[in-house]
Amino acid sequence: MEKSKLKFASRAIKAGQSPDPATGAKVIPIYQTSTYIQKEPGKTVAGYEYSRSENPTRTALEKNLAALEGGKYGICFASGCAALVATVHLLRADDHVILGDDVYGGTFRVFDKIFSKVGITFSSVDMTNLDAINHAITEKTKLIWLETPTNPLLKIADIKKIADLIKEEDNKIMIAVDNTFATPYLQNPLELGADMVCHSSTKYIGGHADVIGGALIVNDKQLAQDLYFIQKSVGAVPGPMDCYLLLRSTKTLQIRMERHCYNAKKIAEFLEQHAHVQNVFYPGLVSHPQNHIAKKQMRDFGGMISFVIKGDKKNASQFCKSTKLFSLAESLGGVESLIEVPSIMTHASIPHEKRIALGITDNLIRLSVGIEDVDDLIEDLTQALR
Ligand SMILES: *Cc1c(COP(=O)(O)O)cnc(C)c1O
Repeated sequence: MEKSKLKFASRAIKAGQSPDPATGAKVIPIYQTSTYIQKEPGKTVAGYEYSRSENPTRTALEKNLAALEGGKYGICFASGCAALVATVHLLRADDHVILGDDVYGGTFRVFDKIFSKVGITFSSVDMTNLDAINHAITEKTKLIWLETPTNPLLKIADIKKIADLIKEEDNKIMIAVDNTFATPYLQNPLELGADMVCHSSTKYIGGHADVIGGALIVNDKQLAQDLYFIQKSVGAVPGPMDCYLLLRSTKTLQIRMERHCYNAKKIAEFLEQHAHVQNVFYPGLVSHPQNHIAKKQMRDFGGMISFVIKGDKKNASQFCKSTKLFSLAESLGGVESLIEVPSIMTHASIPHEKRIALGITDNLIRLSVGIEDVDDLIEDLTQALR
C-alpha cells in the first residue's frame, strides 16, 4: 500500500517513520548529535553533515507533518513564531502583506515591531470579508497570512474563496494559512488552494503542553528549497528531543482531536442555553455566522470555545478563578482544559479601542477544552457559573 494513499490515522503512525536502518529500532531514535562523520572530505555517510542543516529525527517529523497536511514538504522550526519569521524572510523591503485583523498576537507583533523596521508593510483585514481583501491588494502585495478559526472569536475565513479570488487576479501573491487551531486532522488548506500551511506545534500537534515547536508545509519544490535554505541559514531549528516528542504526539492526534471536538460541542451547547451566558462563539453551533463555511472546509469544529459571560471584568475574573478542572492559563491545545480572559491575558497587548472593535470585550472568556470526561467539565463550569 502506498503511504500517501493511507488515511489520516495510518499516515500519522507510518509516514516518515521507517525503522532505523542501522539498528532496526522501530521507533525513530533521538539523534542527539550536532555533527556526523564523513567517509572522506565531502563524502557523508547518509547525507547528514551538521544538525542545523539536517537531523534524522527532524527529517522524520518533517515527513510526518507533510503527510498529515497532504503536502509534499515539511520544514520544522523551534517555534510557531520562528516558522512565521522564516516565511517573512522570503520577502524584501517594500513588500506588502495582508494580515488577518485578529491573528495571533505574536504574529501581529512580528510584522508591527520587527519587520516594519526593514520596510515590510502590512494591512490588517477582516478575512471573512472578500471585498475587504480585494480592496487591500496593491501591486506590492506578496503575502496573505490568515488564520481560521481565529483567536479568540473563532471567525471562519473561506480559504477556497480567498484562493480563487487571488488566482483570478493572476497575481503572484502567496496565501499562507496558520492552521494551528484546526490541526491537519480537521482542515487541510493546501487542498483548498493555499500555498503554505503554518503550525504552532506547541498546541494541538504537541498536545501535552510540554514542547514549543513550529512547522511549515508546502507543495512547491522551489518554495520548499527556499525555506530549507532559510531554515539552515537563520538557524531557528528544533532539537531532536522536541522532534521526538512531536512524533510521539502525532500518533494520537486524531483520537485526541475527536475527543476535543466531542467535548467542545457539548460544552458549547451547554453554555448557549445557560442563563448567565450572553453569547457563545463556536464554529459548530448553527448560531455561528460562518457555520456553513466551517461545515464545508473542516471535518469537525475543534476544541476552542469563546463566550461572553453576563456581567463585567470582575465577574469574568471571578468565574475563571472558580473553576477547578479548567486551569487558568494561556496557551491551548493540550489534553488538559484551560480557561482564560483574553482582554487581561492573551490579548492584553492590543490597544483597548481596537480590542473592543474586534469584539474582545472584558467579559469574554476563552476555553481550550481538553480531553477529560465532558460531564466533569460541564459540572465544573456549572458550579463556577453559580
Ligand atoms: C501559539 C500560536 C502561534 C505561535 O506559536 P509559538 O509556538 O508559541 O511560537 C502562532 N499562531 C497561533 C494561532 C498560535 O496559537
